[in-house]
Amino acid sequence: MTAPKSVAIIGGKTGIFGLSLAIALRDKNYEVTVFDRSQYDANGYDPASDDVQAASADHNKIFRASYGKEIHYQRLAFESRKAWVAEDEKRGFSEHGNGSDDRIFIDSGMLRIQPSDHLATLEKETLANMERDGLRNTQFVKSDPADSQRAEKLGWKEKILDFQIPGSPGRSYETVLDSTAGFIRCSHACAHYQKVAADKGVKFYLGPEGAIDSLVKLKSSLSPGQEKVTGLKTKSGIIHDADVVVVAAGSFSTQILPELSYHLESSAGSLATFKIDRSNTALWEKYSPERFPVMTWKSVPRDNSGKDTGSIYVLPRTPEGLVKIGYRGIKWTNFQPAPENTPFTQNGKWSVPLPVEECSVIPEAAIYSIKQFVSIFLPEFDGTPFFSTKLCWYTDSLDNSFVIDNVPTFSENSVFVCTGGSGHGAKFLPVLGQHAADILEKGDQSSSFMREFWRWRPDAPRRNGLEEGPDGPRNISHI
Ligand SMILES: Cc1cc2nc3c(=O)[nH]c(=O)nc-3n(C[C@H](O)[C@H](O)[C@H](O)COP(=O)(O)OP(=O)(O)OC[C@H]3O[C@@H](n4cnc5c(N)ncnc54)[C@H](O)[C@@H]3O)c2cc1C
Repeated sequence: MTAPKSVAIIGGKTGIFGLSLAIALRDKNYEVTVFDRSQYDANGYDPASDDVQAASADHNKIFRASYGKEIHYQRLAFESRKAWVAEDEKRGFSEHGNGSDDRIFIDSGMLRIQPSDHLATLEKETLANMERDGLRNTQFVKSDPADSQRAEKLGWKEKILDFQIPGSPGRSYETVLDSTAGFIRCSHACAHYQKVAADKGVKFYLGPEGAIDSLVKLKSSLSPGQEKVTGLKTKSGIIHDADVVVVAAGSFSTQILPELSYHLESSAGSLATFKIDRSNTALWEKYSPERFPVMTWKSVPRDNSGKDTGSIYVLPRTPEGLVKIGYRGIKWTNFQPAPENTPFTQNGKWSVPLPVEECSVIPEAAIYSIKQFVSIFLPEFDGTPFFSTKLCWYTDSLDNSFVIDNVPTFSENSVFVCTGGSGHGAKFLPVLGQHAADILEKGDQSSSFMREFWRWRPDAPRRNGLEEGPDGPRNISHI
């Protein structure tokens, strides 16, 4: 019998991509070790903890299966939804039951607020694909009388909220309630799945002993001219051997593996919270997940180049009373000089996360947009100071799809990447790893329907804003 292959994953104590893959590989009997420089077990996965720089460490992230024309992500999301519900059931919570404080997936529904009083193009595409998969009856368009009646019957009517369009008397925004959507209690979910991983035998090196400095490379004896990675070196200089090294370090991945520099860009989303005191029972109830849906608003219609922008969202209050608003209309870049020999740069620069101590202030433009959103959709908080603000770092890929594949520039499939969440990866935690593990094992023979979309794709054009570079309008150092 041959010994199981050993896999070392960089990022994955909280990082959803590494954690999900670690569990799936362990299920296939790989020997799996996760290295993560953060020590989330020590801070209780607290998203407010100062040293947390992981997109996955957060109170909540939206779960949605509405993906416009991208039916493959719609299908992956429904696969994942089933798995979230099953995991909660294993923990003793039913999907529609009480206990939203303890469940990891909350089916609060999500209201997609349109830019105007009629359906936008993206919305029509989403509804068409829901129809195509037999799911149109889970969607409720406010102005559609049949949808309205069905919502009433199924108990969703109260969440189809009505908001007047400022400056347009008598006109209100069109809205669509998606009853399959909701949110993930993200840090809570990571803590749970980390325990699942440890119970299955995944080994963890955390904190200083899990902080990775570099990959250990040798000249390949099988592929002349290429290098093979044989393990990794921690910041304290300890070397760990592995048959395969996986880079799953979120927005820090390019700094560990500069070969990713063409594929990815780190950019920041702007988050702000209000805090409701439990003694304010009217607000506490109104913004609870039982009464209030996730709400997203595209403040402007699709632009002439086909890009959907101007997005802003709010989630129901957390058990601690936090109401979180996210602004992703502009994802801020932070261009810095790239190290020498970085394979791809723009004017010698690349965008990387700001140091954590500079991430608690959000730019004026984000504050302005959030305040505008609050004044229209969350009137009780109009004029209330934020409880907290934070920049949270995305790992954007050139086309918004993940990057999950062997890195062809290293021989013998010794380096695998699992990253590029592009602002929508958290919802896939329970299933992403299974698809990724199949790709790691079988490459082009993988049966995952996501294989084509997640490939290493050096020939794909750099879009999704990644074409802008340091002189683009999003560079935070110019603001
Ligand atoms: C503002 C914002 C809003 C989002 N909203 C949603 C949403 O509503 N719904 C949704 O589904 N998704 C959402 N996402 C996307 C989702 O959060 C990400 O796709 C996902 O969390 C990324 O996980 P990850 O494992 O790739 O990275 P991360 O969560 O960033 O984890 C990377 C890990 O790598 C570790 N690491 C980094 N460098 C090193 C090193 N040198 N050595 C050791 N360890 C290292 C870090 O400590 C961390 O634990 C959002 C993202 C952002 C930024």
